[in-house]
Amino acid sequence: MSSDTDERLNSDLDGVDMQTLAVRAGHLRTMETEHSEPIFLTSSYVFTSAADAAARFSGEEEGNVYSRYTNPTVRTLEERMAAMEGAEQAVGMASGMAAILGVCMSLLEAGDHVVVSRSVFGTTTTVFSRYLKRFGVNTSFVDLTDFSGWQGAVTPRTKMLFAETPSNPLSEVADLRQLSQLAKSNNAFLVVDNTFCTPVLQKPIEFGADIVVHSATKYLDGQGRCMGGIVLGRSEQMKEVVAYLRATGPTLSPFNAWLILKGLETLKLRMDAHCQGAHQLAEWLLQRPKVDAVHYSGLAHHPQHALASEQQNGFGGVLSFEVSGGKAAAWRFIDATRMISITANLGDAKSTITHPATTTHGRLSQEDRDLAGIKDNLIRVAVGLESVDDLMVDLQRGLAAV
Ligand SMILES: *Cc1c(COP(=O)(O)O)cnc(C)c1O
Repeated sequence: MSSDTDERLNSDLDGVDMQTLAVRAGHLRTMETEHSEPIFLTSSYVFTSAADAAARFSGEEEGNVYSRYTNPTVRTLEERMAAMEGAEQAVGMASGMAAILGVCMSLLEAGDHVVVSRSVFGTTTTVFSRYLKRFGVNTSFVDLTDFSGWQGAVTPRTKMLFAETPSNPLSEVADLRQLSQLAKSNNAFLVVDNTFCTPVLQKPIEFGADIVVHSATKYLDGQGRCMGGIVLGRSEQMKEVVAYLRATGPTLSPFNAWLILKGLETLKLRMDAHCQGAHQLAEWLLQRPKVDAVHYSGLAHHPQHALASEQQNGFGGVLSFEVSGGKAAAWRFIDATRMISITANLGDAKSTITHPATTTHGRLSQEDRDLAGIKDNLIRVAVGLESVDDLMVDLQRGLAAV
């Protein structure tokens, strides 16, 4: 880019405030001087000669071959995410579940054993208990916060510990340093699902995690527009993940990668707002007479409040609470709200409300729900970006119906 162009672009920013500079200043453009990151909607790439094609196919020469496994827009997202998580390398995947399955398919084999926290995302449980089991990978499920349970479950065959912290919907927190030490002493990998915190609130690799996975569908996109997933870790393991992606095809669309890139530009601002809103609502709910309990790690009485304060840069945008009465009272509360969306999604600008016992955790047996602490009167709210006052008005409608 010529210095003339540089000067012109920068002079356009004269007099703008800090926030505007944070969005616009210092943006490096290609020789095409495009304003926004381009979307490379191409399935394949051309070579300069037959010899060039052969060299790129064999991997002897770096470069794009086919978008099933590399695409420049997806790579921009991978590099931005790797920088944010402090990982050597990232690999984009079609969804969060594709990312989780991808890690398992790349790094596990028949005869391996894994230890997984019981409170992981419901479909993650299905991957381990239904699918990996068929291929000879056995799983022990343990309580996220009971370290002795993790220790007791580890066997000489254990190859992977898989944790999601904080948990959904009770906001329980596992000590990542402890888990990573346990993994290392057993020559196993620690995999952390960091969807709820994003790298803005928690960087598991700093605490010793080997691999981080994300559903980019949630906060990373942040506006409920698309599906996506990311796997991050050391290059030596990510090489295996890329090889798996190349062979089996759970590819992230370049269009979705571009949406997620746009989402990342506002991630910090959004996470700050989600956390602040959730914290305010948690404190407010705690004072309401018809609320029996509030689960949010930002509250001083939360059992892992100190650990969450140390391990996370914020307590997240998801909280849950128990209303007086049982399932009927919880359903009446939910049905009385008029603005908050009744859906199990989260990480969206729009706040959502759900009844875990009959939705996200509805497939569990009563016994497993009891073990997980998911009571019939529990309601989860994933706080979006609306005004907190307006959210209170809507939740007050719910309370009035209990
Ligand atoms: C949504 C979610 C997933 C699954 O991601 P998809 O993008 O829906 O496939 C995995 N883990 C957590 C914590 C999630 O919230």
